[in-house]
This record gives sequence, C-alpha cells and structure tokens, in this order.
Amino acid sequence: MNNKLDSLTYYAATKKYDLHFPMLTEDLDVDVVIIGGGFSGINTALELAEKGITNIAILEGRTLGFGGTGRNGGQVMTGIGHDLDKIKRHVGEKGLETIFKISSLGAGIIRDRIAKYDIQADFCQGYAYLGWNPRHDKTLRGWLEGFRAASPDEEIELYTGSDVKKVIGSERYTSALKHMGGGHVHSLNLLLGEAKAVSEYGVKIFENSQVLNVEYGPRVTVRTATGSVRAGKMLWACNGFLDEELEPTIYRKTINTYAFQLMTEELPEDLMERISPIRGAYSDISPVIDYYRVTKENRLLYGSATQFIEYIPSDLKAWNRHIMLKTFPYLKDVKIELAWGGPLCCSVNLFPQIGSLPKHKNVFYVQGYSGFGVTPSHIICKILAEGMSEGSDRYSLLSSIPHLNVIGKDSFRNVLLSGGKIWHQTSGYWKGRR
Ligand SMILES: Cc1cc2nc3c(=O)[nH]c(=O)nc-3n(C[C@H](O)[C@H](O)[C@H](O)COP(=O)(O)OP(=O)(O)OC[C@H]3O[C@@H](n4cnc5c(N)ncnc54)[C@H](O)[C@@H]3O)c2cc1C
Repeated sequence: MNNKLDSLTYYAATKKYDLHFPMLTEDLDVDVVIIGGGFSGINTALELAEKGITNIAILEGRTLGFGGTGRNGGQVMTGIGHDLDKIKRHVGEKGLETIFKISSLGAGIIRDRIAKYDIQADFCQGYAYLGWNPRHDKTLRGWLEGFRAASPDEEIELYTGSDVKKVIGSERYTSALKHMGGGHVHSLNLLLGEAKAVSEYGVKIFENSQVLNVEYGPRVTVRTATGSVRAGKMLWACNGFLDEELEPTIYRKTINTYAFQLMTEELPEDLMERISPIRGAYSDISPVIDYYRVTKENRLLYGSATQFIEYIPSDLKAWNRHIMLKTFPYLKDVKIELAWGGPLCCSVNLFPQIGSLPKHKNVFYVQGYSGFGVTPSHIICKILAEGMSEGSDRYSLLSSIPHLNVIGKDSFRNVLLSGGKIWHQTSGYWKGRR
C-alpha cells in the first residue's frame, strides 16, 4: 500500500488502550480461526464468544486496527448505509423489510457494547445528513418519516433554511436531517475495547501473524511464518487487505477505492461551537460523500474521496484542506496536523457480503462494506455469527444476495473506478442525491 496512506492517524495518536498480543509461534487446534483483526474479525469473535463459542484464534498480520478500522472517520451512521432498493429485486418486498429492520440495529449495538464492556471509546451522539440543493432537500424530507418509523425513540428532526445553522456552521447547506441515534466514536479505542472483551472470554488473539497459506478441508489448516492453526471453521475478515493468492474467489467480488482524512489542530471552544452546535458527525448525501466530525479534544476530522476520477493525491493534507475549506472557509488559518487514507472495499451493488464458500461450507467470509463499516460491521457480524453457529433466517437472507465478480479489478482499477464514480454521480441526479 501507498506509504502516505499509512501515515500516523488521529486514532493511533490518541489511543487509550495499551494492548499487545503475541505473534503465533505454535501449532494450535481450535474450533474457529479468524483471519483479520479489524471490526469484522473482532466483532464476529465477540458475538461467537457471547454464545459460548470461545475456542477461537484470531490472526492479524500487523496490529489490531491496521486496516480500515484504525483509519476511518469514526462516523456512526444510523443504518447499513446503502440505498436498500438496489437489492430489492434479489430479496423481494418481505426481505427488504427484514433488512430494513436489521439495518436499524446498528448504532444501538455499538452503544450497548460500550456500556456492557465499559469501553473508553468517546462515543458521542449526534449525526446529521446534509443537503445543498432542492433535490437533496426533497430526498431528506422523504427520509424523515422512514427514519422516525425505524427509530421511534430517537430525536430526529429536519432543518431547512436559516435553521440549518442550528445543526452545522456552514453556508453550504440548505437542509439537515438530524438523527440523535447516530454519532461518532474513536474507532480504534472501540476495537481495542472489544478485543479486550474477546480476550477475557478466552479467545486467543495474535498480532504480527500474517497468514501465508490456507488448506481447506473438513478441518482447515492456516499457516503463518512461525506457526499454524487447525480449525473446524474459518472466517476471512480481511476486507480491502485480502491477498488474491490466498482466496481468489472472494477477492474478485470487490474492488478498492480510496478515501482520505485530515485532522486539524485543537480548536478553541467558540470555533467548535460555530462548526458543530450539536458536537456531531456529518455527511452529505451526494454519491461520493464528504464526511466529517468533531472530536473529544476539539479537533475536526474531515474526510472525502475523489469525485469522478480515481487517484491518490500526492499531498493528502493540502488536498483534504482544499475540500474542507469549501465547507468551512473560515478555517483557512487552522493548522492541519495529520492526514492519512485507506481503502474502501466495495461491492458492485454496494452491499456488504457475507456467506460461505460454495465448495467449502465451513469457510466463511465478510467484506465489501463499500465506504461504511463502523456501524454495518456491528450489524453484519452479529448475523454472520448466527450463520457460523446455529444458523438464522436473516443469515440465510443476507448470504443469498448475489455479488458479481469485478473483472479486470487489478489491471484496470482506476478506469473501472472512474467509470463507476461517473455512473454513480450521474444516476445520483435522478435519485435526488446530486
Ligand atoms: C479513510 C477511511 C475512512 C472511513 N470512514 C468511515 C466512517 O467514517 N464510517 C464508517 O462506517 N466506515 C468508514 N470507513 C470504512 C470502515 O473503516 C471499514 O469498512 C471497516 O473498518 C472494515 O473493517 P474490517 O474489519 O472488515 O476490515 P479492516 O479493518 O480493513 O481489517 C482487515 C484486517 O485484515 C488484516 N489482514 C489482511 N490480510 C491478512 C492476512 N493474510 N493475515 C492476517 N491478517 C490479514 C489486515 O492487516 C487488517 O487489519 C472508512 C475507511 C477508510 C479507509
């Protein structure tokens, strides 16, 4: 991966847990082996452990949170994050209703988990979806009733005209749909708190243990340079970091696009109040979103991606700052302290993928959150853990959604992504998102 994407992140610079796990240096025999130590791997293990399945080994090639989990915007959105109509023809009206119910679970799972395991993750409630033209305003008006029906206990309000400033301190927007069920979180601290809980159940976690070889069969064998794990079941939870040679079938079902983040210096209280009267997280509703939030230390984290043509900017600080100033021109003198980036692992239909390999029913996978993942991974891995243990109707439903292969994803990555972005941007116009 590109070095500048791997620069120091806000999360690594401010993490509260000093947790370290050993490298695998033995030959283990367990019930379940999980590859990947991000939200997907750790959450699935935690869900399984809560069901009493604790003879699990998790192998992370670098350190926990090295992937998207330690690089994201920390936005805790309130659903699964996608236009659910896209999958309607595969799951039907009833299936769509079930998925709608599932997608409203997310932020609640994160809040419950933080409370249950006393995780120090700076969770802060307050989210707003933002619009900047009459089509956006109409779309947000349309979302209002659906959001209220899905989360009747949450404070959900639509602001228009000059009232928008009660939610966000920017001239850019003409509407804001505030949803106090969502918010933002220190995602690395959340992950590490969850990992601590998992390890207290007796699950074994290994860092710096890159899986180099896997042999499928009734019992799977997974090898690193210094050890091996045999298991009855395994889970691929590598998302955008999966190596093609290890598992080509699922590797072909996604493509990585890149997103970039900046962190400002600490800002004075009055400036914070001006930027974010609700001290929340925000995203606009265009097909390629700008997303940003404030932090507990009064910093602004601002994230975006290229709008039409896929490329990795050479100066992430300058590139992100330019975009931030379109929203907050009054931050022109503020210092940008850090900038970093990472891959967003996307499905063709933009819906997360779970299931097991057709020829190896004991080999499961989860990937393809398509730009989201903080909330969706908490929902999806709950359902995946059902599929990996007793089974459930909702696992059968989600794992039945077909996912196309992305042909030419390596040779023509930039061309495919640029084409995809142009298509999403254009079709977004007719969906009221441009
Ligand atoms: C810049 C950026 C901003 C984002 N912002 C948001 C946001 O604000 N809100 C939101 O909801 N989502 C956001 N996302 C997406 C979200 O972070 C991801 O969808 C989510 O973290 C995915 O978690 P994961 O566990 O599936 O994958 P990852 O966190 O990527 O973890 C995969 C892990 O697998 C490990 N691995 C890979 N291969 C091997 C191997 N062979 N052996 C052992 N280990 C291996 C990797 O080292 C990695 O740690 C963002 C992502 C990025 C990059």
